[in-house]
Amino acid sequence: MHGLMMNTPLLISSLIKYASQYHSDTQIVTRTLEGSIRFSNFETLNERSKKLACGLLELGIKSGDRIATLAWNTDRHLELYYGISGIGAVCHTLNLRLSDEELIYIINHAEDRLLFFDNTLKSKVENIKPYLKSVEKFIPISKTKDLEDIDSHYLNYENLLTRKITNFDWPVFDENQAASLCYTSGTTGRPKGVLYSHRTTVIHAMASCLNNVLALRVEDVVLPVVPMFHVNAWGIPYSVPISGAKLVMPGDKLDGKNLFDLMDKENVTIALGVPTVWLGLLDHMDKEARKPHALERVIIGGAAVSESMIDRFEIDYGVNVHHAWGMTEMSPIGVLNSLKPKFSKLTRSDKMPIKLKQGRGIYGVELQIVDDDGNELPRDGASSGHLLVRGPWIISNYYKEKKSALTKDGWFDTGDIATIDKDGYMNITDRSKDIIKSGGEWISSVALENVAVGHDAVLQAAVIGIYHPKWQERPLLICVPKGDNLPSLEEINKFLSDKIPKMWFPDAIEWVDKLPIGATGKVVKAELRKIYKDYKI
Ligand code: AMP
Repeated sequence: MHGLMMNTPLLISSLIKYASQYHSDTQIVTRTLEGSIRFSNFETLNERSKKLACGLLELGIKSGDRIATLAWNTDRHLELYYGISGIGAVCHTLNLRLSDEELIYIINHAEDRLLFFDNTLKSKVENIKPYLKSVEKFIPISKTKDLEDIDSHYLNYENLLTRKITNFDWPVFDENQAASLCYTSGTTGRPKGVLYSHRTTVIHAMASCLNNVLALRVEDVVLPVVPMFHVNAWGIPYSVPISGAKLVMPGDKLDGKNLFDLMDKENVTIALGVPTVWLGLLDHMDKEARKPHALERVIIGGAAVSESMIDRFEIDYGVNVHHAWGMTEMSPIGVLNSLKPKFSKLTRSDKMPIKLKQGRGIYGVELQIVDDDGNELPRDGASSGHLLVRGPWIISNYYKEKKSALTKDGWFDTGDIATIDKDGYMNITDRSKDIIKSGGEWISSVALENVAVGHDAVLQAAVIGIYHPKWQERPLLICVPKGDNLPSLEEINKFLSDKIPKMWFPDAIEWVDKLPIGATGKVVKAELRKIYKDYKI
Protein backbone atom coordinates (compact mmCIF):
# COMPACT_ATOMS: atom_id res chain seq x y z
CA MET A 1 0.00 0.00 0.00
CA HIS A 2 1.40 3.43 -0.95
CA GLY A 3 1.28 6.37 1.43
CA LEU A 4 -1.22 9.05 0.55
CA MET A 5 0.96 12.14 0.69
CA MET A 6 2.00 14.66 -1.94
CA ASN A 7 4.80 13.53 -4.21
CA THR A 8 6.32 16.98 -4.74
CA PRO A 9 9.61 16.61 -6.64
CA LEU A 10 12.77 17.78 -4.87
CA LEU A 11 14.14 20.32 -7.34
CA ILE A 12 17.13 22.64 -7.01
CA SER A 13 14.92 25.61 -7.97
CA SER A 14 12.92 25.03 -4.77
CA LEU A 15 16.00 25.99 -2.73
CA ILE A 16 16.41 29.42 -4.27
CA LYS A 17 12.64 29.94 -4.43
CA TYR A 18 12.44 29.33 -0.68
CA ALA A 19 15.41 31.62 0.06
CA SER A 20 13.97 34.42 -2.08
CA GLN A 21 10.67 34.26 -0.19
CA TYR A 22 11.87 33.82 3.39
CA HIS A 23 15.39 35.26 3.36
CA SER A 24 14.98 37.68 0.47
CA ASP A 25 17.23 40.42 1.86
CA THR A 26 19.89 38.13 3.31
CA GLN A 27 23.15 39.26 1.79
CA ILE A 28 25.40 37.52 -0.69
CA VAL A 29 28.75 39.32 -0.68
CA THR A 30 31.27 38.73 -3.46
CA ARG A 31 34.85 39.84 -3.82
CA THR A 32 34.86 40.35 -7.56
CA LEU A 33 37.85 39.34 -9.64
CA GLU A 34 38.61 43.05 -10.10
CA GLY A 35 38.96 43.24 -6.29
CA SER A 36 35.89 45.33 -5.43
CA ILE A 37 33.09 44.05 -3.18
CA ARG A 38 29.64 43.43 -4.73
CA PHE A 39 26.51 43.07 -2.61
CA SER A 40 23.54 40.99 -3.68
CA ASN A 41 20.86 38.99 -1.85
CA PHE A 42 18.73 35.87 -2.31
CA GLU A 43 15.86 37.72 -3.99
CA THR A 44 18.23 39.18 -6.57
CA LEU A 45 19.90 35.80 -7.02
CA ASN A 46 16.52 34.20 -7.76
CA GLU A 47 15.56 36.98 -10.18
CA ARG A 48 18.85 36.97 -12.07
CA SER A 49 18.93 33.15 -12.20
CA LYS A 50 15.45 33.20 -13.74
CA LYS A 51 16.56 35.78 -16.30
CA LEU A 52 19.53 33.60 -17.15
CA ALA A 53 17.19 30.60 -17.45
CA CYS A 54 15.09 32.57 -19.97
CA GLY A 55 18.22 33.49 -21.91
CA LEU A 56 19.28 29.85 -22.04
CA LEU A 57 15.83 28.76 -23.26
CA GLU A 58 15.97 31.39 -26.00
CA LEU A 59 19.36 30.02 -27.06
CA GLY A 60 17.67 26.66 -27.52
CA ILE A 61 19.11 24.94 -24.46
CA LYS A 62 17.09 21.86 -23.63
CA SER A 63 16.61 19.61 -20.68
CA GLY A 64 19.69 17.39 -20.22
CA ASP A 65 22.05 19.64 -22.22
CA ARG A 66 25.41 20.08 -20.52
CA ILE A 67 26.54 23.67 -19.90
CA ALA A 68 30.09 24.21 -18.65
CA THR A 69 31.34 26.79 -16.15
CA LEU A 70 35.00 27.72 -15.66
CA ALA A 71 34.80 30.13 -12.77
CA TRP A 72 35.68 31.10 -9.20
CA ASN A 73 33.30 31.45 -6.25
CA THR A 74 31.15 34.49 -7.04
CA ASP A 75 27.48 35.51 -7.16
CA ARG A 76 27.64 35.14 -10.97
CA HIS A 77 28.63 31.51 -10.61
CA LEU A 78 25.66 31.02 -8.24
CA GLU A 79 23.36 32.40 -10.95
CA LEU A 80 24.77 29.79 -13.31
CA TYR A 81 24.19 27.01 -10.77
CA TYR A 82 20.52 27.90 -10.42
CA GLY A 83 19.77 29.22 -13.92
CA ILE A 84 21.19 26.14 -15.67
CA SER A 85 19.88 23.39 -13.36
CA GLY A 86 16.58 25.23 -12.84
CA ILE A 87 15.48 24.52 -16.42
CA GLY A 88 16.62 20.89 -16.36
CA ALA A 89 19.97 21.46 -18.05
CA VAL A 90 23.17 20.17 -16.42
CA CYS A 91 25.63 22.57 -14.79
CA HIS A 92 29.07 21.15 -15.51
CA THR A 93 31.68 22.80 -13.29
CA LEU A 94 35.22 22.68 -14.69
CA ASN A 95 38.25 22.71 -12.44
CA LEU A 96 40.18 25.76 -13.64
CA ARG A 97 43.43 24.35 -12.23
CA LEU A 98 43.45 21.45 -14.70
CA SER A 99 45.79 21.43 -17.67
CA ASP A 100 44.49 22.50 -21.08
CA GLU A 101 44.70 18.90 -22.24
CA GLU A 102 42.56 17.64 -19.33
CA LEU A 103 39.98 20.38 -19.86
CA ILE A 104 39.71 19.59 -23.57
CA TYR A 105 39.19 15.91 -22.78
CA ILE A 106 36.53 16.62 -20.14
CA ILE A 107 34.56 19.18 -22.18
CA ASN A 108 34.54 16.95 -25.26
CA HIS A 109 33.57 13.94 -23.16
CA ALA A 110 30.68 15.83 -21.56
CA GLU A 111 29.69 17.37 -24.94
CA ASP A 112 29.09 20.75 -23.33
CA ARG A 113 27.06 23.13 -25.53
CA LEU A 114 27.98 26.44 -23.86
CA LEU A 115 30.99 27.51 -21.84
CA PHE A 116 30.61 30.31 -19.27
CA PHE A 117 33.91 31.61 -17.89
CA ASP A 118 35.52 34.26 -15.72
CA ASN A 119 37.18 36.92 -17.84
CA THR A 120 40.50 36.39 -16.05
CA LEU A 121 40.55 32.90 -17.59
CA LYS A 122 40.17 34.16 -21.14
CA SER A 123 43.62 33.04 -22.29
CA LYS A 124 42.91 29.50 -21.06
CA VAL A 125 39.65 29.52 -23.01
CA GLU A 126 41.44 30.85 -26.12
CA ASN A 127 43.99 28.01 -25.84
CA ILE A 128 41.43 25.22 -25.66
CA LYS A 129 38.77 26.74 -27.95
CA PRO A 130 40.07 25.28 -31.26
CA TYR A 131 39.92 21.74 -29.83
CA LEU A 132 36.40 21.79 -28.41
CA LYS A 133 33.98 19.81 -30.57
CA SER A 134 30.61 20.63 -29.04
CA VAL A 135 30.77 24.14 -27.59
CA GLU A 136 28.65 26.59 -29.60
CA LYS A 137 29.08 29.79 -27.59
CA PHE A 138 31.64 31.10 -25.10
CA ILE A 139 30.24 33.48 -22.52
CA PRO A 140 32.46 35.55 -20.23
CA ILE A 141 30.48 36.41 -17.12
CA SER A 142 31.35 40.10 -16.92
CA LYS A 143 32.69 42.96 -19.11
CA THR A 144 32.37 41.28 -22.47
CA LYS A 145 32.10 44.01 -25.09
CA ASP A 146 35.64 43.65 -26.32
CA LEU A 147 35.32 39.87 -26.70
CA GLU A 148 32.11 40.04 -28.71
CA ASP A 149 33.92 42.31 -31.12
CA ILE A 150 36.71 39.80 -31.62
CA ASP A 151 34.67 36.74 -32.41
CA SER A 152 31.03 35.91 -32.99
CA HIS A 153 31.42 32.78 -30.86
CA TYR A 154 31.40 35.01 -27.79
CA LEU A 155 28.15 36.17 -26.21
CA ASN A 156 27.53 38.98 -23.75
CA TYR A 157 26.39 37.66 -20.38
CA GLU A 158 24.35 40.69 -19.35
CA ASN A 159 22.59 40.73 -22.74
CA LEU A 160 21.63 37.12 -22.18
CA LEU A 161 19.93 38.19 -18.97
CA THR A 162 17.83 40.84 -20.72
CA ARG A 163 15.96 38.44 -23.00
CA LYS A 164 12.33 38.49 -22.10
CA ILE A 165 10.00 35.59 -21.45
CA THR A 166 6.96 36.88 -19.59
CA ASN A 167 5.63 35.17 -16.46
CA PHE A 168 8.53 32.74 -16.28
CA ASP A 169 8.38 30.40 -13.32
CA TRP A 170 10.75 27.55 -12.54
CA PRO A 171 9.56 24.47 -14.44
CA VAL A 172 8.58 21.31 -12.57
CA PHE A 173 10.02 17.96 -13.67
CA ASP A 174 11.20 14.60 -12.36
CA GLU A 175 13.48 14.98 -9.34
CA ASN A 176 15.71 12.19 -10.63
CA GLN A 177 16.73 14.28 -13.62
CA ALA A 178 20.45 15.22 -13.79
CA ALA A 179 21.33 18.62 -12.31
CA SER A 180 25.10 18.97 -12.24
CA LEU A 181 28.25 17.22 -13.37
CA CYS A 182 31.69 17.16 -11.80
CA TYR A 183 34.69 15.13 -12.95
CA THR A 184 36.91 13.37 -10.41
CA SER A 185 40.46 14.60 -10.10
CA GLY A 186 41.69 11.53 -11.98
CA THR A 187 45.06 11.02 -10.29
CA THR A 188 45.09 7.62 -11.98
CA GLY A 189 43.60 7.21 -15.45
CA ARG A 190 41.23 9.61 -17.16
CA PRO A 191 38.90 11.84 -15.09
CA LYS A 192 35.42 10.37 -14.68
CA GLY A 193 32.12 12.24 -14.56
CA VAL A 194 29.88 12.16 -11.49
CA LEU A 195 26.36 13.18 -12.42
CA TYR A 196 24.25 14.49 -9.52
CA SER A 197 20.46 14.63 -9.69
CA HIS A 198 18.05 17.23 -8.30
CA ARG A 199 16.91 14.76 -5.68
CA THR A 200 20.43 13.87 -4.48
CA THR A 201 21.45 17.53 -4.36
CA VAL A 202 18.41 18.62 -2.37
CA ILE A 203 18.55 15.87 0.22
CA HIS A 204 22.30 16.35 0.59
CA ALA A 205 21.61 20.06 1.20
CA MET A 206 18.97 19.29 3.83
CA ALA A 207 21.20 16.76 5.58
CA SER A 208 24.17 19.17 5.54
CA CYS A 209 22.22 21.70 7.57
CA LEU A 210 21.57 19.24 10.41
CA ASN A 211 22.83 20.16 13.83
CA ASN A 212 25.43 17.40 13.98
CA VAL A 213 26.61 18.14 10.44
CA LEU A 214 27.26 21.79 9.40
CA ALA A 215 24.67 23.11 11.87
CA LEU A 216 23.94 26.11 9.66
CA ARG A 217 21.91 28.81 11.45
CA VAL A 218 20.22 31.90 10.13
CA GLU A 219 22.71 33.94 12.22
CA ASP A 220 25.69 32.41 10.44
CA VAL A 221 27.88 34.02 7.82
CA VAL A 222 29.39 31.30 5.64
CA LEU A 223 32.53 31.55 3.53
CA PRO A 224 33.20 28.63 1.18
CA VAL A 225 36.91 28.79 0.35
CA VAL A 226 36.42 25.37 -1.23
CA PRO A 227 35.86 26.15 -4.92
CA MET A 228 32.51 25.80 -6.66
CA PHE A 229 34.31 23.54 -9.15
CA HIS A 230 35.27 21.10 -6.40
CA VAL A 231 32.15 18.99 -5.73
CA ASN A 232 29.88 22.03 -5.85
CA ALA A 233 31.80 23.73 -3.01
CA TRP A 234 30.75 20.85 -0.76
CA GLY A 235 27.10 21.71 -1.45
CA ILE A 236 27.30 25.14 0.25
CA PRO A 237 25.54 26.99 -2.64
CA TYR A 238 22.53 24.71 -2.00
CA SER A 239 22.56 24.37 1.80
CA VAL A 240 23.11 28.03 2.73
CA PRO A 241 19.97 29.34 0.93
CA ILE A 242 17.72 27.00 2.92
CA SER A 243 19.44 27.86 6.20
CA GLY A 244 19.00 31.58 5.54
CA ALA A 245 22.62 32.30 6.47
CA LYS A 246 24.60 35.08 4.77
CA LEU A 247 26.96 33.89 2.05
CA VAL A 248 30.41 35.38 1.37
CA MET A 249 32.13 34.47 -1.89
CA PRO A 250 35.90 35.04 -1.99
CA GLY A 251 36.45 35.18 -5.78
CA ASP A 252 40.02 34.31 -6.73
CA LYS A 253 41.95 35.91 -3.87
CA LEU A 254 42.56 33.05 -1.46
CA ASP A 255 45.80 34.19 0.20
CA GLY A 256 45.90 34.71 3.97
CA LYS A 257 45.63 38.49 3.97
CA ASN A 258 42.74 38.72 1.50
CA LEU A 259 40.80 35.94 3.25
CA PHE A 260 41.43 37.54 6.66
CA ASP A 261 40.25 41.00 5.53
CA LEU A 262 37.10 39.65 3.86
CA MET A 263 36.21 37.43 6.82
CA ASP A 264 36.84 40.22 9.31
CA LYS A 265 34.83 42.82 7.39
CA GLU A 266 31.87 40.57 6.59
CA ASN A 267 31.63 38.94 10.06
CA VAL A 268 32.23 35.41 8.77
CA THR A 269 31.35 32.81 11.42
CA ILE A 270 32.05 29.59 9.47
CA ALA A 271 34.63 28.95 6.77
CA LEU A 272 35.20 25.74 4.82
CA GLY A 273 38.20 24.50 2.87
CA VAL A 274 41.09 22.06 2.44
CA PRO A 275 44.03 22.17 4.91
CA THR A 276 46.46 23.95 2.55
CA VAL A 277 44.38 27.16 2.36
CA TRP A 278 44.34 27.53 6.14
CA LEU A 279 48.13 27.70 6.44
CA GLY A 280 48.13 31.12 4.78
CA LEU A 281 45.23 32.35 6.91
CA LEU A 282 46.85 31.12 10.15
CA ASP A 283 50.13 32.84 9.28
CA HIS A 284 48.24 36.07 8.70
CA MET A 285 46.33 35.63 11.96
CA ASP A 286 49.69 35.27 13.72
CA LYS A 287 50.86 38.50 12.09
CA GLU A 288 47.73 40.37 13.19
CA ALA A 289 47.78 38.55 16.55
CA ARG A 290 44.02 38.01 16.29
CA LYS A 291 41.36 36.04 14.42
CA PRO A 292 38.84 37.49 11.94
CA HIS A 293 36.66 38.85 14.72
CA ALA A 294 33.45 36.80 14.31
CA LEU A 295 35.04 33.49 13.25
CA GLU A 296 33.69 30.58 15.31
CA ARG A 297 34.26 27.42 13.25
CA VAL A 298 36.32 26.10 10.39
CA ILE A 299 35.34 22.92 8.58
CA ILE A 300 38.42 21.21 7.18
CA GLY A 301 38.20 18.34 4.73
CA GLY A 302 39.50 17.09 1.41
CA ALA A 303 42.73 15.94 3.10
CA ALA A 304 43.65 15.08 6.68
CA VAL A 305 43.97 17.91 9.16
CA SER A 306 47.00 17.87 11.46
CA GLU A 307 47.06 18.22 15.23
CA SER A 308 49.20 21.34 14.93
CA MET A 309 46.59 23.01 12.69
CA ILE A 310 43.80 22.17 15.14
CA ASP A 311 45.92 23.56 18.01
CA ARG A 312 46.72 26.78 16.16
CA PHE A 313 43.03 27.47 15.50
CA GLU A 314 41.67 26.28 18.83
CA ILE A 315 44.34 27.15 21.41
CA ASP A 316 45.74 30.32 19.84
CA TYR A 317 42.46 31.81 18.62
CA GLY A 318 39.48 29.96 20.13
CA VAL A 319 38.17 28.88 16.71
CA ASN A 320 36.65 25.37 16.70
CA VAL A 321 37.89 22.95 14.07
CA HIS A 322 35.62 20.25 12.64
CA HIS A 323 37.27 17.60 10.53
CA ALA A 324 35.16 16.27 7.63
CA TRP A 325 35.53 13.68 4.91
CA GLY A 326 33.81 13.05 1.63
CA MET A 327 34.35 12.49 -2.07
CA THR A 328 33.22 13.80 -5.43
CA GLU A 329 31.31 10.52 -5.73
CA MET A 330 29.43 11.36 -2.50
CA SER A 331 28.08 14.87 -3.29
CA PRO A 332 30.46 15.08 -1.14
CA ILE A 333 29.76 14.92 2.60
CA GLY A 334 30.24 11.51 4.21
CA VAL A 335 31.28 12.14 7.80
CA LEU A 336 31.83 15.15 10.01
CA ASN A 337 33.57 15.30 13.34
CA SER A 338 31.73 16.70 16.33
CA LEU A 339 32.39 15.46 19.85
CA LYS A 340 29.72 13.38 21.51
CA PRO A 341 28.56 15.02 24.76
CA LYS A 342 30.09 12.19 26.78
CA PHE A 343 33.55 13.34 25.66
CA SER A 344 33.11 16.94 26.77
CA LYS A 345 34.75 16.39 30.15
CA LEU A 346 37.90 14.82 28.70
CA THR A 347 41.16 16.76 28.87
CA ARG A 348 42.30 18.44 25.68
CA SER A 349 44.98 15.81 25.07
CA ASP A 350 42.43 13.00 25.49
CA LYS A 351 40.02 14.71 23.11
CA MET A 352 42.67 15.18 20.42
CA PRO A 353 42.81 11.59 19.07
CA ILE A 354 39.02 11.75 18.62
CA LYS A 355 39.10 15.18 16.95
CA LEU A 356 41.76 13.99 14.51
CA LYS A 357 39.46 11.26 13.20
CA GLN A 358 37.50 12.28 10.11
CA GLY A 359 34.18 12.05 11.96
CA ARG A 360 30.99 10.11 12.50
CA GLY A 361 28.74 9.02 9.69
CA ILE A 362 25.88 11.42 9.09
CA TYR A 363 22.27 10.42 8.55
CA GLY A 364 21.99 9.23 4.94
CA VAL A 365 25.47 7.68 4.65
CA GLU A 366 26.08 4.07 5.68
CA LEU A 367 29.71 3.10 6.30
CA GLN A 368 31.34 -0.31 6.38
CA ILE A 369 34.94 -1.57 6.48
CA VAL A 370 35.88 -4.87 4.87
CA ASP A 371 39.01 -6.99 4.42
CA ASP A 372 40.53 -7.92 1.04
CA ASP A 373 37.92 -10.70 0.64
CA GLY A 374 34.98 -8.42 1.33
CA ASN A 375 34.30 -9.68 4.88
CA GLU A 376 33.01 -6.99 7.23
CA LEU A 377 35.53 -5.97 9.92
CA PRO A 378 34.62 -5.04 13.50
CA ARG A 379 33.97 -1.46 14.58
CA ASP A 380 36.68 -1.55 17.23
CA GLY A 381 38.77 1.45 16.20
CA ALA A 382 41.72 -0.87 15.50
CA SER A 383 40.79 -3.11 12.54
CA SER A 384 41.44 -1.24 9.34
CA GLY A 385 40.02 -2.15 5.96
CA HIS A 386 38.55 -0.94 2.70
CA LEU A 387 35.93 1.74 3.37
CA LEU A 388 32.61 1.12 1.61
CA VAL A 389 29.68 3.56 1.56
CA ARG A 390 26.01 3.40 0.60
CA GLY A 391 23.28 6.00 0.54
CA PRO A 392 20.92 8.20 -1.48
CA TRP A 393 23.52 10.82 -2.55
CA ILE A 394 26.27 8.36 -3.52
CA ILE A 395 27.20 7.48 -7.11
CA SER A 396 25.90 4.37 -8.83
CA ASN A 397 27.54 4.78 -12.28
CA TYR A 398 30.09 7.15 -13.75
CA TYR A 399 28.81 9.31 -16.59
CA LYS A 400 28.72 7.42 -19.92
CA GLU A 401 30.10 4.25 -18.29
CA LYS A 402 27.96 1.16 -18.63
CA LYS A 403 29.67 -0.77 -15.86
CA SER A 404 28.24 -0.18 -12.39
CA ALA A 405 30.53 1.69 -9.99
CA LEU A 406 29.32 -0.53 -7.14
CA THR A 407 30.28 -3.86 -5.58
CA LYS A 408 27.93 -6.76 -6.23
CA ASP A 409 26.25 -6.01 -2.88
CA GLY A 410 25.52 -2.43 -3.91
CA TRP A 411 28.26 -0.58 -1.97
CA PHE A 412 30.69 2.00 -3.35
CA ASP A 413 34.35 1.28 -2.57
CA THR A 414 35.86 4.66 -1.69
CA GLY A 415 39.46 3.56 -2.26
CA ASP A 416 40.23 4.72 1.29
CA ILE A 417 41.47 2.50 4.11
CA ALA A 418 39.85 3.26 7.44
CA THR A 419 38.95 2.18 10.95
CA ILE A 420 35.57 2.76 12.61
CA ASP A 421 35.32 2.80 16.41
CA LYS A 422 32.43 1.74 18.61
CA ASP A 423 31.12 5.33 18.78
CA GLY A 424 31.03 5.44 14.98
CA TYR A 425 34.07 7.70 14.46
CA MET A 426 35.73 6.83 11.19
CA ASN A 427 39.46 7.36 10.75
CA ILE A 428 41.11 7.30 7.33
CA THR A 429 44.44 5.60 7.67
CA ASP A 430 45.33 5.92 3.99
CA ARG A 431 44.31 5.76 0.36
CA SER A 432 44.51 2.11 -0.63
CA LYS A 433 47.14 3.02 -3.23
CA ASP A 434 49.22 5.12 -0.78
CA ILE A 435 49.42 2.74 2.16
CA ILE A 436 52.96 1.45 2.71
CA LYS A 437 53.22 -2.31 2.84
CA SER A 438 56.26 -3.17 4.93
CA GLY A 439 57.11 -6.73 5.95
CA GLY A 440 53.48 -7.82 5.93
CA GLU A 441 52.33 -4.79 7.98
CA TRP A 442 50.55 -1.66 6.80
CA ILE A 443 52.06 1.72 7.60
CA SER A 444 49.69 4.66 7.33
CA SER A 445 51.37 7.43 5.33
CA VAL A 446 48.67 9.83 6.59
CA ALA A 447 49.34 9.09 10.27
CA LEU A 448 53.06 9.53 9.74
CA GLU A 449 52.54 12.86 7.94
CA ASN A 450 50.25 14.10 10.69
CA VAL A 451 52.77 13.54 13.44
CA ALA A 452 55.69 14.84 11.34
CA VAL A 453 54.03 18.24 10.85
CA GLY A 454 53.89 18.52 14.64
CA HIS A 455 57.69 19.06 14.61
CA ASP A 456 58.65 22.73 14.93
CA ALA A 457 60.82 22.66 11.81
CA VAL A 458 58.22 21.04 9.50
CA LEU A 459 55.66 23.08 7.56
CA GLN A 460 54.29 20.35 5.28
CA ALA A 461 55.02 16.63 5.01
CA ALA A 462 54.30 13.81 2.59
CA VAL A 463 55.23 10.15 2.97
CA ILE A 464 55.61 7.62 0.19
CA GLY A 465 56.70 3.98 0.11
CA ILE A 466 60.12 3.27 -1.41
CA TYR A 467 61.12 -0.18 -2.64
CA HIS A 468 63.14 -2.11 -0.07
CA PRO A 469 64.77 -5.49 -0.84
CA LYS A 470 63.98 -6.96 2.57
CA TRP A 471 60.82 -5.19 3.74
CA GLN A 472 59.17 -4.71 0.32
CA GLU A 473 58.52 -1.01 1.08
CA ARG A 474 59.80 1.52 3.62
CA PRO A 475 58.62 5.10 4.24
CA LEU A 476 60.41 8.13 2.82
CA LEU A 477 59.44 11.39 4.56
CA ILE A 478 59.47 14.44 2.27
CA CYS A 479 59.19 17.77 4.10
CA VAL A 480 58.91 21.47 3.39
CA PRO A 481 60.76 23.27 6.20
CA LYS A 482 59.33 26.23 8.13
CA GLY A 483 62.67 28.07 8.18
CA ASP A 484 66.38 27.35 7.87
CA ASN A 485 66.50 24.57 10.45
CA LEU A 486 66.69 21.16 8.69
CA PRO A 487 66.84 18.49 11.42
CA SER A 488 68.49 15.15 10.64
CA LEU A 489 66.55 11.90 10.26
CA GLU A 490 67.74 10.88 13.76
CA GLU A 491 66.38 14.10 15.28
CA ILE A 492 63.03 13.67 13.51
CA ASN A 493 62.77 10.03 14.58
CA LYS A 494 63.55 11.01 18.18
CA PHE A 495 60.61 13.42 18.00
CA LEU A 496 58.39 10.66 16.58
CA SER A 497 59.50 8.07 19.15
CA ASP A 498 56.62 8.49 21.64
CA LYS A 499 54.00 9.06 18.92
CA ILE A 500 54.11 6.15 16.49
CA PRO A 501 55.38 2.54 16.45
CA LYS A 502 59.12 2.20 15.80
CA MET A 503 58.59 0.16 12.65
CA TRP A 504 56.77 3.19 11.12
CA PHE A 505 59.79 5.51 11.49
CA PRO A 506 60.85 6.83 8.09
CA ASP A 507 64.06 5.34 6.73
CA ALA A 508 65.01 8.59 5.02
CA ILE A 509 64.06 12.26 4.91
CA GLU A 510 64.23 14.71 2.02
CA TRP A 511 63.80 18.50 2.41
CA VAL A 512 62.15 20.26 -0.53
CA ASP A 513 61.00 23.84 -1.31
CA LYS A 514 57.49 22.74 -2.11
CA LEU A 515 55.30 19.69 -2.58
CA PRO A 516 53.40 19.06 -5.84
CA ILE A 517 49.83 20.22 -5.17
CA GLY A 518 47.07 19.03 -7.53
CA ALA A 519 44.00 20.76 -8.90
CA THR A 520 41.95 20.15 -5.76
CA GLY A 521 44.60 21.39 -3.34
CA LYS A 522 45.97 18.01 -2.32
CA VAL A 523 49.53 16.67 -2.47
CA VAL A 524 49.95 14.59 -5.65
CA LYS A 525 51.64 11.45 -4.37
CA ALA A 526 51.77 9.93 -7.86
CA GLU A 527 54.09 12.80 -8.83
CA LEU A 528 56.31 12.20 -5.77
CA ARG A 529 56.44 8.51 -6.56
CA LYS A 530 57.66 9.39 -10.06
CA ILE A 531 60.34 11.78 -8.74
CA TYR A 532 61.65 9.31 -6.17
CA LYS A 533 61.18 6.12 -8.18
CA ASP A 534 64.89 5.20 -8.16
CA TYR A 535 65.46 6.38 -4.59
CA LYS A 536 67.66 4.02 -2.60
CA ILE A 537 67.04 3.54 1.10
P1 AMP B 1 37.79 14.27 -4.00
O1 AMP B 1 36.85 13.42 -4.72
O2 AMP B 1 38.74 15.02 -4.89
O3 AMP B 1 37.11 15.18 -3.04
O4 AMP B 1 38.73 13.32 -3.14
C1 AMP B 1 38.19 12.43 -2.21
C2 AMP B 1 39.30 11.79 -1.43
O5 AMP B 1 40.01 12.77 -0.67
C3 AMP B 1 38.81 10.81 -0.39
O6 AMP B 1 38.53 9.54 -0.92
C4 AMP B 1 39.99 10.77 0.56
O7 AMP B 1 41.02 9.94 0.10
C5 AMP B 1 40.48 12.20 0.53
N1 AMP B 1 39.93 12.93 1.68
C6 AMP B 1 38.84 13.72 1.72
N2 AMP B 1 38.67 14.23 2.95
C7 AMP B 1 39.69 13.74 3.71
C8 AMP B 1 40.07 13.89 5.08
N3 AMP B 1 39.40 14.67 5.91
N4 AMP B 1 41.14 13.20 5.49
C9 AMP B 1 41.86 12.41 4.66
N5 AMP B 1 41.56 12.25 3.37
C10 AMP B 1 40.49 12.91 2.89
